[in-house]
Amino acid sequence: MLYIGSHVSFKSDSGLLGSVKETLSYDANAFMFYTGAPQNTQRNPIDDMKTYEGLKLMKENNIKLENVIVHAPYIINLANNKEITKWEFACNFLRQEINRCNTLGVKYMVLHPGSSVGLDRKYAINNIIKGLNNVLIDDDSIVICLETMALKGTEIGSLEDIKTIIDGVNNKKNIGVCLDTCHLNDAGVDISRFDEFLDKFDKLIGIEKIKCIHVNDSKNELGSHKDRHENIGYGTIGFDNLINVIYNKRLDNIPKILETPYIDKEYPPYKFEIEMIRNKEFNNNLYSDTFKYYKGDNHE
Ligand code: FE
Ligand code: FE
Ligand code: ZN
Repeated sequence: MLYIGSHVSFKSDSGLLGSVKETLSYDANAFMFYTGAPQNTQRNPIDDMKTYEGLKLMKENNIKLENVIVHAPYIINLANNKEITKWEFACNFLRQEINRCNTLGVKYMVLHPGSSVGLDRKYAINNIIKGLNNVLIDDDSIVICLETMALKGTEIGSLEDIKTIIDGVNNKKNIGVCLDTCHLNDAGVDISRFDEFLDKFDKLIGIEKIKCIHVNDSKNELGSHKDRHENIGYGTIGFDNLINVIYNKRLDNIPKILETPYIDKEYPPYKFEIEMIRNKEFNNNLYSDTFKYYKGDNHE
């Protein structure tokens, strides 16, 4: 079964209900959100009524909780403990974020492993392991999905890095992996040979650890270490290669999430990207279709 969706907003006034409504407006059956602004750690209390109404609307529309993902804010950096108070703050924040997932009923949380900044890489990776062991408790049911990264600057998040982290974490049931096609491409993984990559992944980590896939095209060449997402079929990976990832039999039932850029920074393209994914047919009018739909120029 294809579970496809996108990044959606989660606002303090509309809560989960707003996220579900946005998801339905894209004809999606999966979604991902930040529980607050991704670049800061200010969080408003969760509105229980909106959570209840959101869960009810999900049920009515056959959206399963397994296909709902929370993305941890990207400022959390468990790798860097140069300032111990900042590192402890990051651990505490991650713990609170897990508690928020529990309140919402969300089972999967995507986390960027971190950046070593000025530290030795091995030491930095060990900080991530320590952080996760600090934060996770034995009866946690959350699965923290470490995201494969573009390896921009001092980013940690190659397959080998992720394997080392998983090996060091005590509660292995609470760790999974999120593949991001743009990040993989930018890190040097050729998506046109995706099955070879999956073979390698399976040998190193085990394919069953993959719990979420971020489907994005890339603005940059293979191995560029840039991390700039592009709309589906409009980048260097290309439509057919992304379709092969989305419909890969070994990744059936795993939620696929779009994090592609808005058109003119204002209009979400997801309704039309999801449509072309379901049709398996590239739409070269994505920009104008999106623009017209949200500008209300449909009558033209
Ligand atoms: Fe991410
Ligand atoms: Fe991503
Ligand atoms: Zn990215």
